[in-house]
Amino acid sequence: MACRKDDRINLLDLDRQSMARFFADLGEKPFRTHQVLKWLHQSGVDQIDEMTNLSKSLREKLKEIACIRPPQVKHEQLSRDGTRKWLLEIDGGNSIEMVFIPEEGRGTLCISSQVGCPLDCRFCSTGKQGFNKNLSVGEIIGQLWVANHRLGWKKEERQPVTNVVMMGMGEPLLNFDNVVAAMDLMLDDLAYGLSRRRVTLSTSGLVPAIDRLKEKSPVSLAISLHAPNDEIRNRIMPINKSWPLEELLGACRRFTERDESHNHITFEYVMLDGINDSDENARELAKRLQGIPAKINLIPFNPFPGSEYQCSPCERINRFREILIRAGLVTVTRKTRGDDIDAACGQLVGKVVPKAKRFRQSLKGSEGEAA
Ligand code: SAH
Ligand code: SF4
Repeated sequence: MACRKDDRINLLDLDRQSMARFFADLGEKPFRTHQVLKWLHQSGVDQIDEMTNLSKSLREKLKEIACIRPPQVKHEQLSRDGTRKWLLEIDGGNSIEMVFIPEEGRGTLCISSQVGCPLDCRFCSTGKQGFNKNLSVGEIIGQLWVANHRLGWKKEERQPVTNVVMMGMGEPLLNFDNVVAAMDLMLDDLAYGLSRRRVTLSTSGLVPAIDRLKEKSPVSLAISLHAPNDEIRNRIMPINKSWPLEELLGACRRFTERDESHNHITFEYVMLDGINDSDENARELAKRLQGIPAKINLIPFNPFPGSEYQCSPCERINRFREILIRAGLVTVTRKTRGDDIDAACGQLVGKVVPKAKRFRQSLKGSEGEAA
């Protein structure tokens, strides 16, 4: 079905609740929601006519008002280490990038939440591109849908994508409602049925939105920390001026106190040569994180054209890790994957037609909602 630029409802935009409302408004029985969610997300159909357990008349009615509109793949690249990167077209001349990382026994999909990002972290190429828009629910869950198609949708066996990380382009907590609805579909047994431990949201630290997330979603949380104190963090992550470290770590403590499912947080720490990687920085970091159930991921900095930093040397990263481990913190160095095709952390660029270059000043009053 040609369903590009028309105003029919995109069925991929509907999580279980909104689909139930949609069918109730049509005067249909609740079980239609179950049937259609399964067709879309478990069988991966892209035609309403393929939903063969719906009556012909319902299919005709649906085709008039709704369609299935996943993001379109513009380009695919395969790294020598098996990592795959896709360029996906989004309305308005924009595109985003999505990465699949296969590992022994699992496959991780790294997906985007926004076209570009308004937060302007100094070490991030997405940030350098400015911001265009929040992705819709269909554009977010559509990335998982597309990846399953590309990797071979397996009906009975395990899906190729076993883990999803919101670590592509954009700040997910600035697109709160759409990201939570899309993650609900990832966890929903009628859709992808992923365990909450296998879906991770990564944020640069919007404190009120972290508190809201704790109430709304059971997914795992990763915090882009990157510095042991406000002085360094202010320099590399402008968002720290809105929510300084102590406020952020307070939100992390509250998050882990919620229940069994949120019992630890992953802290990401990008290793920037001469900026945040000294022995003293490591000791200060260890002190700061005392009392928070934490795992630390050290990420070697991935350069991009025009980037102003260098990655810390290997020996420095090892030494930094040892200090943290000796202080009792579970610490691993993340393996760089797909760097030959610019698919590593912070290298995703897509094509962003920037609208609002920066809107930091308005952040604090916005409770984590953008555009
Ligand atoms: N906006 C969210 C999620 C996307 S960024 C966030 O900031 O958490 C995903 C991760 O990649 C973050 O930890 C981010 O800090 C890190 N990152 C960004 N640029 C990087 C680079 N050039 N090298 C290594 N990691 C980078
Ligand atoms: Fe945005 Fe995350 Fe990049 Fe910062 S690191 S600019 S928050 S995508």
